[in-house]
Amino acid sequence: MMALAVITGIIMIKYKPIYEVKLAGTELGYIENKKEFQSIVAELENYQSKNVYDVTLAEEPEYSLKLVSKDQDTNEDEIVMSLQKDMIITYQYFEIYINDEKVDAVDTKEQAEEIILELQQQDSTGKFEIKECETQDESQIKTSTIEVAKEEAYKALNIIQKEKKLTINGIKLASLPVEGTITSRYGVSSRIRSSNHTGLDIATAKGTPIKAVANGTVTYAQYTGSYGNLVKIDHGNGVETWYAHTSTMKVEVGQVVEAGEVIATVGSTGNSTGPHLHLEIRVNGEHIDPEEVYQNMLG
Ligand SMILES: [Zn+2]
Repeated sequence: MMALAVITGIIMIKYKPIYEVKLAGTELGYIENKKEFQSIVAELENYQSKNVYDVTLAEEPEYSLKLVSKDQDTNEDEIVMSLQKDMIITYQYFEIYINDEKVDAVDTKEQAEEIILELQQQDSTGKFEIKECETQDESQIKTSTIEVAKEEAYKALNIIQKEKKLTINGIKLASLPVEGTITSRYGVSSRIRSSNHTGLDIATAKGTPIKAVANGTVTYAQYTGSYGNLVKIDHGNGVETWYAHTSTMKVEVGQVVEAGEVIATVGSTGNSTGPHLHLEIRVNGEHIDPEEVYQNMLG
């Protein structure tokens, strides 16, 4: 008994028990206190930061108790660093979509929800969505502050709402025919006309090019009574645009024209008191007020 105690004593003077740490079979070094070290590792896995959704060690470390020389150094910090290097971090961010178009991305779900809520208040018919995105590559994360994302979302919504106002029966009338002064609005009565005004009068210099508001086919191009030189374009879906009082007509019946293509020039032919374009929009043969569409074409 006595001898064993002496031997043990001698061993403990020269040696100490420490843990060897291995990761995926590779020896990383030695640690003094296993419990303390494991709590440091647990902390690594609980790492919380912006966009960090999950932290997992690539491999669980293995520990084995060893008796080593008292001079043997431990290297906890180094081991922690190499564990850290091998950690799999999953990042999360949230993309905001308006009508299936990505608008921007933010860091948290709460931010995304706040933006969506505001958009819904602006437009109850819009399609707003949040897409939860995950990546293990931090450089993939392209998020904005909530202020910037909100601004982007409003900009996108504004464009969509404007486009909606430019669209009649599924046909987008987006190209400005002429820019000028509105001299007579739709629906007003006048001494020079027998019925209420069926279009919008836009006054500008004689000879100014008149452009087609959308793609279509010319269905009419001739002088006709009070309309003077009249060009009609059929855009499909029952949508037609009429351009009246023109000076020179540049197109023929049956001609296919593109949005923005010059079809005539401003004049004062027919029942007119000065050079202007009488723009008329017809849907299934019925004239409608073109002013909102015209204002939106102006931007
Ligand atoms: Zn008119």
